[in-house]
Amino acid sequence: MTAPSLLPTVRTTCPYCAVQCNFDLHLENGLPVKVTPTKDCPVARGTVCKKGLAALSDLRHPDRLTHPLLRKNGELVPVGWSEALAYVRGVLGPLVQTRPQAVGVFGSGSLTNEKTYLLGKFARLALKTPHIDYNGRYCMASASTALNRSVGYDRGLGFPLAEMGTSDLILLVGANIAETLPPIMQYLKAAKDRGGVVYAIDPRATTTTKVAGRHLGLRPGTDGVLALGLLHLMKVWGKVRPTAPSHGMLEALAQADAYPPTRVAHECGIPEAELLALARAYAEAHKPLILTGRGAEQHAHGTDTVQAFLNLAFLTGHFGKPGGGYGTLTGQGNGQGGREHGQKNDQLPGARSLRDPRHRVEMAALWGCSEGDLPQPGHSAQNLLNACGGEIEALIVLGSNPVVSAAGAGQITERLKALKHLIVIDFLPSETAQIATLVLPGSMWCEEEGTTTNLEGRVQRRRKAITAPGASREDWRILCDLAAAVGRPQGFTYATFRELQDEFFRATKGGKADYSGLSAERLDRASAQWPVRHADGPDTPYAYAPTYPTADGLATLHLPRLPAVSASSRTLTLTTGRLGNQYQSGTQTRRNAALRAEATAQMHPDTAAEHGLRAGEPVTLRTAHGETTLPVVLTPGLRPDTVFLPFHWPETANLLTDPDTVDPHSHMPAFKATPVTLHPVPVT
Ligand code: SF4
Repeated sequence: MTAPSLLPTVRTTCPYCAVQCNFDLHLENGLPVKVTPTKDCPVARGTVCKKGLAALSDLRHPDRLTHPLLRKNGELVPVGWSEALAYVRGVLGPLVQTRPQAVGVFGSGSLTNEKTYLLGKFARLALKTPHIDYNGRYCMASASTALNRSVGYDRGLGFPLAEMGTSDLILLVGANIAETLPPIMQYLKAAKDRGGVVYAIDPRATTTTKVAGRHLGLRPGTDGVLALGLLHLMKVWGKVRPTAPSHGMLEALAQADAYPPTRVAHECGIPEAELLALARAYAEAHKPLILTGRGAEQHAHGTDTVQAFLNLAFLTGHFGKPGGGYGTLTGQGNGQGGREHGQKNDQLPGARSLRDPRHRVEMAALWGCSEGDLPQPGHSAQNLLNACGGEIEALIVLGSNPVVSAAGAGQITERLKALKHLIVIDFLPSETAQIATLVLPGSMWCEEEGTTTNLEGRVQRRRKAITAPGASREDWRILCDLAAAVGRPQGFTYATFRELQDEFFRATKGGKADYSGLSAERLDRASAQWPVRHADGPDTPYAYAPTYPTADGLATLHLPRLPAVSASSRTLTLTTGRLGNQYQSGTQTRRNAALRAEATAQMHPDTAAEHGLRAGEPVTLRTAHGETTLPVVLTPGLRPDTVFLPFHWPETANLLTDPDTVDPHSHMPAFKATPVTLHPVPVT
């Protein structure tokens, strides 16, 4: 029998992905030494993945930033906070008085809700710039946009995760959850144990496809065509029964007429028989669930792709069903909350719109300014980065690493280097921090209080277990310091974190993502799914019931506009994605010895042979945007017309992606499909 642990523990949430597993940190001599998953975690139910178990090792990593660093004579050198803030006062102070639109702010989907809120307030009140956006544009923006414009709001899953196990058909579209969100696999298995069927729809056979049991290996970027093909067959087979009256139903159904199975199979690059088998399974299912991930969403037509699946779920009567319908598997640590509370270029807290006069008046009243003081929407993420060094002279980056994660990272890095002032707040020297003019050392996940919201809209407490090391500070205090340094401290003088948190909860009142019934005490008793409108009222486990928060209460089924597919082309397509051991741009996980992984170029053995390549040999991959050289890994489960690169390393995957093309609705770059050529590297 194991003796019970006598070490003090702090219960908190893992920082790495949107599942937000709960675990206990065991402290010894003031530092966490062990992570134990908690069985009563409502999401992961006592499981964690390798990243969660290894999350402690970066806390006191030798690379940890513990002092401000200021660039002098080309070198970043340690300085005190007073010198660092004097630099901010000297360079940003005059700029925000005269040309605030020359300053930009770049945030992150990993920030707590409170920091998300404060960053948006900081940009609009202290800097008075319209140009704030965040790396969520590189994550779940397309699904978020499609949901918002169709049904008026966006909660990744409209029901508790455990309901997934009650679905009788799950379509995972471009979502490798066995590697990216492992605890969710238990719900997939539960569905299968009850007789449900699971399809993985992905150009790659992955760990997820093995568990799913059924794999549809379609051509990258053709997921939307597949959805229209399924809708076509549902119409032919008399399976149309809309979830609720909506705008655009007849047009959406008419559009599907043009997508018969022969065309769809040809464009998707799949056997027609497999398409028909999937369609039959969907037609016969009582509670089918479509879940999209980044594979389907990260395209220049990502919003339209999601729209096509949303239309399918809606027109077949499944949208909004507990355990069924449509959902998106948000990836980043606080990908859901990070997209709700004002760090988007067009958004105010509580998922309000910066364009809505009523919302502007509500926030101005809370912030003690006039509505006219609030800027109008500015650049979205990729456009903001592309404007650096030109229209944008100074950029503040919090918790993001665009040198690795931005599309066309080579071009973006040059834009960032052309800035007069690049101020990076981070806890490890990311590649973006390394080219900064000023680096401010911030706090890691268990060094700060806050709340995060997981992929089912569940708000959870993140608890502080230890103090940030050296001279590093909690991020919320740094933002307040910066506001004071530019001469606008008003509204940024919180005596305690609790003051900020309470203001944040109040600021969401009346918004679609309303957290105003929450408090730290309530969240200590139990997590809660938003909206939570009253302190003594219930939370909302089940969302997406009509009527919808749209102008007339109806949904709108927009017509997906999908690009023509050149199915006969022999062009190779580069697609990018994640590895189970790594997180986003790798700033945290690449340093972690327990999470070793390698940047490689994965390709089908036939593709390698056709190009004279063998396993382990270097290959140069070239696109219109850049090139990189990596060792070959043979991957029989990958389509022969597709090459896969993981994106966690600098100067690899995103050197090859397009910096200039974004989805017209979500402003998501086209990460997942870039024409590429392969070139063996001569042995010298
Ligand atoms: Fe859980 Fe995600 Fe953390 Fe893994 S990375 S422990 S799945 S929250």
